[in-house]
Amino acid sequence: MKKVRTRFAPSPTGYMHIGNLRTALFEYLIAKHEGGDFLLRIEDTDQGRKVEGAVDIIYETMREVGLQHDEGPDIGGDYGPYIQSERLPMYKEYADQLVELGGAHYCFCSEEEVEQQRKECELINKPFQYDDPCKHISLAEAKERIAKGERYVVRQTISHEGATYFDDEVYGRIEVDNDILDESVLLKSDGYPTYNFANIIDDHTMGITHVVRGNEYLSSTPKYNLIYQAYGWELPTYVHVPPVMKDEQHKLSKRNGDASFQDLVKKGYLPQAILNYIALLGWAPEGEQEIFTLEELIRVFDIKRISKSPAIFDLNKLTWMNGMYLRALPLEQFHELALPYYREAIHTDVDLIQVSRILQQRVEVLNQIPEMIDFIDTLPEYDIEMYIHKKMKTTYDIALTALKNAQTALQTVEDWNEATVHEVLLALPARLEMKNGQVLWPVRTALSGKQFTPGGAIEIAHILGKEESLRRIQVGIEKLNKVCEP
Ligand code: GLU
Repeated sequence: MKKVRTRFAPSPTGYMHIGNLRTALFEYLIAKHEGGDFLLRIEDTDQGRKVEGAVDIIYETMREVGLQHDEGPDIGGDYGPYIQSERLPMYKEYADQLVELGGAHYCFCSEEEVEQQRKECELINKPFQYDDPCKHISLAEAKERIAKGERYVVRQTISHEGATYFDDEVYGRIEVDNDILDESVLLKSDGYPTYNFANIIDDHTMGITHVVRGNEYLSSTPKYNLIYQAYGWELPTYVHVPPVMKDEQHKLSKRNGDASFQDLVKKGYLPQAILNYIALLGWAPEGEQEIFTLEELIRVFDIKRISKSPAIFDLNKLTWMNGMYLRALPLEQFHELALPYYREAIHTDVDLIQVSRILQQRVEVLNQIPEMIDFIDTLPEYDIEMYIHKKMKTTYDIALTALKNAQTALQTVEDWNEATVHEVLLALPARLEMKNGQVLWPVRTALSGKQFTPGGAIEIAHILGKEESLRRIQVGIEKLNKVCEP
């Protein structure tokens, strides 16, 4: 059997679309599952859309998620160049050959002529297909006109009889009548190929065995196959993958403001978690397992389990998965990742590793951190009603008694740490004939001024230190004094 070779062929747009990254992952997994090669090819034939630095973003993304290509513009390989704009002479040669073979013809029509026909089609509500008068020019005459310097494009020639079909690994047999196939431009007058041509030449000359791409290409694949046939080339195996959707109706799209890979990383999603999550968009493993390392994915990935149905990108699910990844990290690594977010919210001198210790179990996305810990720097203004907690059975009087006793007890602690604070605070409920929550809820409220905090009273007291903890409890006592009977 031939060695499996797949390619990721992004256009350099300046960001990594989630759907494209998912395609890259599938391509990588298909190749690696079979011990094959995974190539990176830059499709930059649309020079009008060129963005400075866009190719670097592609390299950077692939590096961050660990999809290492075996051949590509940056590392070379036997089938280069791997950037389409560097392959122009080759496309020209193949285009001329295709004309000789009868699969294409030279077309001298102006854009206005094409436009005119498009408008006419629109008027009668007919799907546009260019009826090219140049099809009837003899090859000898066309060559003469070219020799005289006339501008031309190379356009595919399609016989309108019969039907063309192919078998897709995901969508099964796709058959279309030839008369609905559009005779597209293959080579533009500036010598650049269109996608309709470059994808065939590149996939063939790079020895690609499996073409994996979005299902928006399903309907044009028959027309590409006619070109393969004209050259007498073997067809690749086609794996068209379902789209990644924002909801039932809309595709996930950066242009419509949906997050790209870079946007998600900036928000504090881990590249590995994103990669794991997108593996499950349009593909499902056999069992219930959802958390996979890349090595595990390589082992279990199976083309047969790619779904035809569109996959909906569920940010909540990704968020959950990201939390799983964060919790599984060694503390030091979590701490490293969290540090930039601490710097946004904490400017006082506290032991940040303690903060990491309590936060790691509770954070799902790193950008939640500043809001979770802002109370460490400054005690927020808070409403006295926060001392009332139905389930904890607190009242203002109970809260005041708890705080006063906590204050006295905590003042005696010399070596301030979680164990010592724990010992002192948890001795109180029994002595005061209260429930644990009747003491700990008011203390936590006084220390944080927040309804929800990562960590409880003891952990927060430890992070704030003795002096600041006592000061905040005093603030709480003064607040409560105002509403309690003396
Ligand atoms: N450059 C194309 C795109 O970004 C690639 C499609 C393909 O993989 O063939 O959509």
